[in-house]
Amino acid sequence: MRLLEDRIKLDGKVLRGNVLKVDSFLNNQIDVELLVELGKEIYSRFKDCGVNKIVTIEASGIALASITAQFFHCKMIFAKKSKTSNMSNDVYVSSAYSFTHNVTNNVVVSKEYLGEKDNVLLIDDFLANGEALNALIDIVNQAGATLKGIAVAVEKGFQGGGDKLRAKGIDLLSLAIVDKMDENGIVFRQQ
Ligand code: 5GP
Repeated sequence: MRLLEDRIKLDGKVLRGNVLKVDSFLNNQIDVELLVELGKEIYSRFKDCGVNKIVTIEASGIALASITAQFFHCKMIFAKKSKTSNMSNDVYVSSAYSFTHNVTNNVVVSKEYLGEKDNVLLIDDFLANGEALNALIDIVNQAGATLKGIAVAVEKGFQGGGDKLRAKGIDLLSLAIVDKMDENGIVFRQQ
């Protein structure tokens, strides 16, 4: 999506450890008008899939997931990250290793909000190795819900998580795919 690629080129900062910092519009300060355009793009791709729940993971997926849920007129659920293991029985639990924070989090969703009648679209801000999204897929499966697709703002293609999801036959929409990034700039995959 040209709008997002241009914004990443303008305001994104490439940090050490393959981290792309986009705090000025996606991760700390939110450019709501930009996210509305991203949400419309996601809606136009998945609008005929019968999506009735959008699921993301706290914290940075929440803004895009919330804005996108308005277009689908559906509820948005965010999985909570918790480091404790003594959970109640009323939750689905999976786990995800975070390369950006070097920690493994339990990922938790209340059973009350997700079940076998649900058609789910997963949304996140970034897709790198796929840990976070694989934990959400696990939770969708535990719930007996149907995964209709995944949408992310930025996929870091060189970390391979996106290609593994595509190889599983999952319908993945990445609004921008970074194939290479270093001090000389950012190269996007042609889509
Ligand atoms: P994965 O689980 O796919 O390895 O990483 C995705 C998660 O890590 C996202 O939820 C996102 O919050 C965080 N993340 C991974 N890479 C980056 C990055 O380059 N920049 C930012 N801002 N977040 C990232």
